[in-house]
Amino acid sequence: MTILENIKKNIEKISSQLEITEDEKNKLLNHKQIKKVGLKLGEKNYDAWRIIHNNALGPGKGGIRFHPDVSEDEVKSLSFWMSLKNSLVKLPYGGAKGGVKINPKELTEDEIQEISREYIRKLHNYLGEDKDIPAPDVYTTSQIMGWMLDEFEKIKGRHEKGMITGKPLILGGCELRGDATSKGGKIVLEEFLKRKNKKPNEIEIIVQGFGNVGRYIAEMLYDSGYKIIAVSDSKGGIYNEKGLNIKELIIHKNNSKSIINFKDSKNISNKEILELKTNVLILAALENQITQENANEVKAEVILELANGPINFEADEILDEKGVEVIPDILANSGGVIVSYFEWSQNKTGNILDKNHLENILEDKLKKAFNEVYEKYLQDKNLNMRLNAYKISIKRILEAERARS
Ligand code: NAD
Repeated sequence: MTILENIKKNIEKISSQLEITEDEKNKLLNHKQIKKVGLKLGEKNYDAWRIIHNNALGPGKGGIRFHPDVSEDEVKSLSFWMSLKNSLVKLPYGGAKGGVKINPKELTEDEIQEISREYIRKLHNYLGEDKDIPAPDVYTTSQIMGWMLDEFEKIKGRHEKGMITGKPLILGGCELRGDATSKGGKIVLEEFLKRKNKKPNEIEIIVQGFGNVGRYIAEMLYDSGYKIIAVSDSKGGIYNEKGLNIKELIIHKNNSKSIINFKDSKNISNKEILELKTNVLILAALENQITQENANEVKAEVILELANGPINFEADEILDEKGVEVIPDILANSGGVIVSYFEWSQNKTGNILDKNHLENILEDKLKKAFNEVYEKYLQDKNLNMRLNAYKISIKRILEAERARS
């Protein structure tokens, strides 16, 4: 089942509770704008998309990914998710996403710059600070956002920094960006643990994925006194029931390019790590990691989804039956887009806000979003946290649609 089908099935499951007309359901399940173009690089042509799922709450917002497997279906799913995520954390945005079907690992830096500028040349009419605002995603960097901004401003003949976020600091980027997703995930997890009256030293954690998001959250949780008993990356996992020293592990990974063969720990497989007993399992690698194939083997009490879509529809049902609580991606990993919103508002108003002040707003927004979802979940435990979060997001989008019609 594709990710888009997963989302649609979840919406089908709650549609009777949404008091939604057939017409509204169609509106929600269909994308507002799909733009597909061809990008020229030398003799070659690459497919590229910019898709807005919904823009009732505000301009489209969502990243652009460069990946050889990008497809229209994938960009449609990701833009749908962005609508749900932005609505859940009350950002004044709709959901959008972009992609280029290209392998940046096979390109020179000049070619990456050229394809980034070409993307803007072909799609600039559909972008803008009040239309649709891209950001980095898989294999797109802050530098790429800088090139895209420059091309856009050259074409338009004016400055418009808010047309894109995740830019270099000097071009109006936001200081908080680097570890915002992990910081957000930690805030949400700690709100959850507070509800369970648990203290850091009582909690064992496993982190799948040790890239940008996984490494930062492992380090932050370690610094706060949690015991990280296992970690994995694409090459395999490591385990120590007494806890891993994450500071030393980061040095080990920087030196050996992998986490495996770390001192005082046992190497385990990527399959085994998902099946270990633990209080919290953090998924920070890829989509579709827990499916009907392995959901029955999961022994974690709680799963925090920092990756997008790491658990599929069928696995959700199995985990529900087993009583495993899942803190869903649209809530747990929304720290990144909240910081994008700070960047965009600073660019639009020209006011640069103090870092501590922005950190407080980030915390406040995420705590409120978590507690809104959790309260609804306590009232209706027939629906898991994901479905309760979907309900809240969709109701807000529908309210905006109704206020416009
Ligand atoms: P990344 O590429 O930096 O890290 C991914 C990590 O997962 C790497 O350490 C890789 O080795 C590991 N990995 C790959 N396959 C694995 C496997 N089978 N088992 C265990 N580990 C495996 O990516 P990232 O930026 O950290 O993003 C991780 C996830 O979080 C993605 O799903 C991404 O879409 C999502 N996300 C990221 C952000 C962000 O701000 N970077 C924001 C929202 C969501």
